[in-house]
Amino acid sequence: MSSTAASEVTCDLLLDGGTVITLDGDKRVIDDGAVAITGTHIVAVGDSTELDQHRRAAKRSIDCSGKVVMPGLTDGHTHLFQTLGRGMGDGLSLVPWLRRFMFPYAKTITGEIAAAAAQLGALQAALSGTTMVVDNHYGPTDTETTLAVADSIESVGIRGAVARGIFGDPNRGGEIMGVAPELFPWSNDEELSITKECMDARPSGSQVEVWPGPENIVYVTPELIAASAELADNGNVRWHMHCSESASEIDFFESIHGIRPVAWLAREGLLSHRTTLAHAIWLDDDEVAAVGENTSTAVHNPISNQYLASGVLRLKPLQQAGANVALGSDGIAVTGQDMFEAMKAGTLLHRVHHLDPEATTVEQFVEIAATGGATMTGLDAGSLAAGRQADVIVVDVDKVRHTPWNRPVASVVHCGRAADVEMSIVGGKIIVENGKSTVVDEDEVRAKATEAAERLIADADLSGLTQGWFSPGAG
Ligand SMILES: [Zn+2]
Repeated sequence: MSSTAASEVTCDLLLDGGTVITLDGDKRVIDDGAVAITGTHIVAVGDSTELDQHRRAAKRSIDCSGKVVMPGLTDGHTHLFQTLGRGMGDGLSLVPWLRRFMFPYAKTITGEIAAAAAQLGALQAALSGTTMVVDNHYGPTDTETTLAVADSIESVGIRGAVARGIFGDPNRGGEIMGVAPELFPWSNDEELSITKECMDARPSGSQVEVWPGPENIVYVTPELIAASAELADNGNVRWHMHCSESASEIDFFESIHGIRPVAWLAREGLLSHRTTLAHAIWLDDDEVAAVGENTSTAVHNPISNQYLASGVLRLKPLQQAGANVALGSDGIAVTGQDMFEAMKAGTLLHRVHHLDPEATTVEQFVEIAATGGATMTGLDAGSLAAGRQADVIVVDVDKVRHTPWNRPVASVVHCGRAADVEMSIVGGKIIVENGKSTVVDEDEVRAKATEAAERLIADADLSGLTQGWFSPGAG
């Protein structure tokens, strides 16, 4: 640190004495480190002795010995409105999962129920060390509900983007995929004007932004996808879309358009740093190169992809080509709002897929979850360095399962649990302390969501999916 006088190096908050996983340019992991925060930003990171002047003047100092201090994680792809369907579609592959579970759920859910679901999901994210979520919201998507979902995310203190699900004019892709016609309530023009209205209410730079989210490359018309990308450009935000998740979707798209999905995006000039593709699994070599050249984001959802047996993202080729890779949970209806689980699942998935324990590193997955997420959203966070946004988490590793404390990053990924997260800080504000939300009453959020779930399951006639012992062939 510089030799400025002690009085000049005061800070609001000093996280002192922990193992600091910085993800900075030098990828420093500092034993007995400290992070100083003033206002919304990090002002210094170093070993404890270097930050001695901050220590003397800090307004608040927190002893982080026995803990890890690391950047907050980004969930790059989730569906918070699905939170009330926790566990219900298990054992179904993607198309039956959509037809028997998610489409009835999505066409029945009301705005009020969706907002309660989103708050519960966002709360789980906050408690799990996720400081930013990209929420692909598609039920229902009127202006009022979309903005209520954004409010739900903000209410628990985290950052977010609501990628508003856009369906538009009914089309051949929707028919082939068996998408419920009720999910196409608006024309292409109406979709664009509602999305624009929501983006104006929560413009670029808001704590929770609204992005265009053309729902799926197969069942949104090409014109509407192109117009969504343009809307994102004009609003200086990202746009988000399910793309090439299952092999059958490639066949569907090719049968309609005569070209592979990502090849089409490339041909139309729709790949840019603003393009964020959820899944992006079934890409050929040319498509991988195109995503890389344009520094677009592929959001890897390793748990969802195993759960629905969709396939395995081409991680190494994408990263080598220059693509940004972020990590997603894909929501609670699939697994859970838990990025620790996703980091571990991702690390292991590629090893068994390639029968090669060197196919991934734990460091790579911490980086994807933190830095990859920040790059995806355009936020100046995702690493701990002076000048960055203070989105920081403190993880308690003073536990049997982390003993002995030999290799910090490996322990966090392989032995860590979301429940180890003790503190979450977003833009300098403590939103979780001692593992509890400091901004909402957790019991109240749970009670409201439980009541909403009961109504939804009855109204959507989904009680068959809540049976004690489920057999996928039945019903
Ligand atoms: Zn999804």
